[in-house]
Amino acid sequence: MVFPGETLGTVIKTASGTLLGYIGVIRDISERNAAQTQIQNLAFSDPLTQLPNRRLFMDRLEQALAAAARHQRQGALLFVDLDDFKTINDALGHDQGDVLLQQVAQRLLTCVRDGDTVARVGGDEFVVLLKELSQDLQEAATQAEAVAKKIIAALNHPYQLDDVVQHSTASLGVTLFGSDQYERPDEPLRRADMAMYQAKAAGRNTLRFFDPQMQAVVTARAALEAGLHAALENNQFLLYYQAQVADDGCITGVEALVRWSDPVRGMVSPAEFIPLAEQTGLILPLGSWVLQTACQQLARWASRADMAHLTMAVNVSARQFHQSDFVDQVLDVLARTGAPASRLKLELTESLLVKNVGEVIAKMGALKARGVGFSLDDFGTGYSSLAYLKRLPLDQLKIDQGFVRDILTDANDAAIAKMVVVLADSMGLGVIAEGVETQEQQDFLVRLGCHAFQGYLFSRPVPLLEFEALLR
Ligand code: C2E
Ligand code: CA
Ligand code: CA
Repeated sequence: MVFPGETLGTVIKTASGTLLGYIGVIRDISERNAAQTQIQNLAFSDPLTQLPNRRLFMDRLEQALAAAARHQRQGALLFVDLDDFKTINDALGHDQGDVLLQQVAQRLLTCVRDGDTVARVGGDEFVVLLKELSQDLQEAATQAEAVAKKIIAALNHPYQLDDVVQHSTASLGVTLFGSDQYERPDEPLRRADMAMYQAKAAGRNTLRFFDPQMQAVVTARAALEAGLHAALENNQFLLYYQAQVADDGCITGVEALVRWSDPVRGMVSPAEFIPLAEQTGLILPLGSWVLQTACQQLARWASRADMAHLTMAVNVSARQFHQSDFVDQVLDVLARTGAPASRLKLELTESLLVKNVGEVIAKMGALKARGVGFSLDDFGTGYSSLAYLKRLPLDQLKIDQGFVRDILTDANDAAIAKMVVVLADSMGLGVIAEGVETQEQQDFLVRLGCHAFQGYLFSRPVPLLEFEALLR
């Protein structure tokens, strides 16, 4: 038989010190151990849900605060309060209320990662501790928001109680911690609790951030996201075209740049909404709309003698390119619109080369075989390895406007621009400079050996008719 034991013993010696032996008792302490575990469980966990209770939670929160300060990572505290628990409890009885709370606990656990903590701190109050979020405040807020939304959705599903199906919702207060290394555990708890009351005041079944500024960021982002969805449905996007010119000033083609014409916001810059569209996946329908519209235009130009030479550069974001059927999408659009593949130039960024380079090369190769060209946008700002670069079937490098801006005054920028030109030459690629605003910048670039340009010096991005007028 094996059992946990405790020995108590003593050595027996004669008066002169000779060792006679040893006597002792071994006591079976399995029962005592079980009792101790139980006491511990009672002390630290909530008997109904088996989740950590407030005491254990405060302990974990204290550790999380210290760790966040040490590793400079943000953490988040979510305060979850059921919206109508009292009514349910009164109407269905406490037994049913208990079952509901147990199911809530289970659902909360499915919304977090290992290492995060879910605890029950009051009747129908739960807290969720998220550790190791981003260092960046904004990004951490986005991560916390994503979990909070997941929780709201999870708690929104109907609950199967003993003999009824019950609906319930929750209000969430969210706060970040980790920026203030001297913060005490009850401070984030108080903030999350206050935010939770704001969520209640805002109509329940929703979440609120404590920090009004952070809340403003999150709210603005949500409004922008909703606006983008609506814009796609209501055809509020349009393409502007910016001329690309040769040494002699002749327009060789355009870059298509998307614009959002919103009835309230006016003309919104893509710099404002492309990043959000990328995060939310909206870039996929938006990107295919851009490609389709640009190719339709390219086909129209191809049928007119004075415009048939124009190339069309289209920006493709990483997420778009990494879709498994991207090649087919492009070929399909070309076929449907009748646009000449050899006049289409896809602008890729270095960020796209971070993963699956082999796959990227294969996709580029497949399109290249059909005549589609490729330009590497914003070149010099990313981390392209030269080894990869050599393997890519590119046609052109695009010197980022960040290097062109101060090319006359900043020796570093000038050196990088020169390096890009030399690199392009050595690989047999074309090179184009973007953001050219002055004649002096153009002259400087010409001296470096760059002979293709894009920038306000020649034209801003303009609507179709304006561009066609410019061409004449
Ligand atoms: P980008 O691809 O680097 O586009 C060049 C940006 O520089 C454009 O801003 C253009 O208006 C601006 N620009 C052109 N010439 C000059 C100049 O001489 N001086 C200055 N200061 N700026 C100049 P825009 O149109 O606001 O677009 C911003 C970014 O949004 C683009 O940067 C591109 O990354 C993204 N974007 C635009 N359209 C699309 C699209 O259809 N799809 C995707 N995925 N991204 C797009
Ligand atoms: Ca571009
Ligand atoms: Ca660019």
